[in-house]
Amino acid sequence: MSEQSSTTANLAGILARIEAARKAAIKPAATTRLIAVSKTVEAPGIEEALAAGQRLFGENRVQEAQRKFPALKTAHPDLELHLIGPLQTNKVKEAAALFDVIQTLDRTRLADALAAERDKTGRCPRLFIQVNTGEEPQKAGVIPADAAALIAYARELKLPLTGLMCIPPAEDDAAPHFAFLAKLADEHGLEERSMGMSGDFEMAVRFGATLVRVGSAIFGARNYSTDADSVAGL
Ligand SMILES: *Cc1c(COP(=O)(O)O)cnc(C)c1O
Repeated sequence: MSEQSSTTANLAGILARIEAARKAAIKPAATTRLIAVSKTVEAPGIEEALAAGQRLFGENRVQEAQRKFPALKTAHPDLELHLIGPLQTNKVKEAAALFDVIQTLDRTRLADALAAERDKTGRCPRLFIQVNTGEEPQKAGVIPADAAALIAYARELKLPLTGLMCIPPAEDDAAPHFAFLAKLADEHGLEERSMGMSGDFEMAVRFGATLVRVGSAIFGARNYSTDADSVAGL
């Protein structure tokens, strides 16, 4: 028998921890799915995760995803790709063509661009609104006070809005941020809650995450020299 790759073992470990957190939670979501965040991971590393049965992946840059994922999606038609990094309006066409879900809708201009692209092509990925729960000036996302208006705006445009996403401030206790996001999603009838990363996904499960986004705990530490933009984007 060949030895399991560390990616395979890490994935199994994370899935087990998600299940344990769900069992310990008072009110977990009906399902909690794992997004493997594959930014800076090249195709062979992603193939290992696919071989282990992983099908949801998250990327935070359109160009990097365009380079890596079209071939993988052809080979694995059930692969589901989520954009979890900021989206510029000039990349909407490419993003709408490639991603199954865009988690980072955070302004009306971007909603307009996604609606225009949908009207042209008939296609729009499912959308989550990113909420800047910590109101950090350097971070993407709509501030909580403006979230209800953006949700209403997206619905007026008949965009397929299905969830909310947040990235709590690194130095904060994440719990109140997760609780806030879950409550906001409840209030607006939005099913998906994307919250929790390598360091806090079990807590996110406890607060009803339907999707957790885990990168380094699956693929190992990232090479930050190639990840500088995405770190700054956080
Ligand atoms: C990189 C990233 C993650 C994964 O972070 P890890 O700490 O490596 O698990 C999750 N969400 C977003 C938005 C990211 O950019």
